[in-house]
Amino acid sequence: METSSYAGPLAARIAERQEAMLAFARDLIRIPTENPPGNHYPECVDRIVQELSALGLGAEVVPTPGFADRPRASVLSFHGSGPRTLYFHGHYDVVPAQAPDLFEPRMQGGRLAGRGSADMKAGLALMIYATAILKELGVPLGGRIGLCIVPDEETGGQGGSRWLDEAGLLGRDAVAMVTPEPTSGVVWNANRGAVTLRVSVKGKPAHVGLQHQGVNAFERMVQVVTALQRLKAEVETRRTSYRIDPPAAAHSILLLGGRVEGGTNFNVVPDHCAFTLDRRFNPEEDFAVERGRVFEVLEDCRRAGIDLEVETLQEGWSAGTPEDHPVARALAATIASVTGSEPAFEMCPGLLENRWYARRGIPAFAYGPGFLALAHGPHESVRIADVVRDTLTYALLAIRLLPEPTR
Ligand SMILES: [Zn+2]
Repeated sequence: METSSYAGPLAARIAERQEAMLAFARDLIRIPTENPPGNHYPECVDRIVQELSALGLGAEVVPTPGFADRPRASVLSFHGSGPRTLYFHGHYDVVPAQAPDLFEPRMQGGRLAGRGSADMKAGLALMIYATAILKELGVPLGGRIGLCIVPDEETGGQGGSRWLDEAGLLGRDAVAMVTPEPTSGVVWNANRGAVTLRVSVKGKPAHVGLQHQGVNAFERMVQVVTALQRLKAEVETRRTSYRIDPPAAAHSILLLGGRVEGGTNFNVVPDHCAFTLDRRFNPEEDFAVERGRVFEVLEDCRRAGIDLEVETLQEGWSAGTPEDHPVARALAATIASVTGSEPAFEMCPGLLENRWYARRGIPAFAYGPGFLALAHGPHESVRIADVVRDTLTYALLAIRLLPEPTR
């Protein structure tokens, strides 16, 4: 059968299973897996494993070592056979809720609302059900679907993808990866990398009348910032060739002073001042080089006699898969077959788990129901019709990317 001839039977089965899929998504929303700090992870893992088992899909729970207080684990599940593996990758942690009632899911006006509805518990439900329905219908695949379900996405992947990557368990035999982040109707084929630092400049306190006895941490911090502004002026002339909306957002970024603190009072020489810097580099720029440039400026300041400490708040690689890559074309054609039009490809403004795969040369994309603008806010919700639509998209993508070998 052609890919397209599966669309009808798959859509019919998804309609039959829609209530069960949404009930599962609601159960996941009810488990407040807030991160930070990483609450209720084991409970959520249990619920995911229970659903996988009920659907006849195996599940391997991979605990992350080193998190005794708040245990972390990932779930891997495979359907099909042979080495070629298409990964559906998702995360079960959510950003903290603005109000506790966000963990009571609501369905109204054709939407599912609650913390994690868009980012990405409905996404987890759809990728699991897309796989289960292919299995139920006995659709032959020339390879495997790998479900990779992780914690800690919202805080850099430490106890999730980073650990799986180090353990050699991430993206084994992958032909591609797709993750159902709320992409607002576009495909994210790239993301910026990040090096986020907190720089603390130290001085020596003294009363204003005896300021000659002190060392002014604020004035020293200004020197550090001035040096960084020279780097900023240089890097921000660079633009990515990946598409981003609006185009003015295509420049490489060095944000200075997102958070600033220091001093004690107007009449005291400040003995400490701290500021954050957030270097977001484009996929065309090299992580080690760009990170090195920032640290070089700070090291020069140190050599000039400024006492400073640097704390790394976050680091992440960039990623990019060109939109003319064969897998990108297959994804675009699959989406067009479901929605009626080809999606736009854009670079995601934030970090994406795509990066763990892309750095191994695996084509990686984010595409899923929901809008980024709503995802982390108090009104998070997702259109149910979009969840159902993307369940079909994921199932059809598997058929297209894992064709049965011709006999
Ligand atoms: Zn997410």
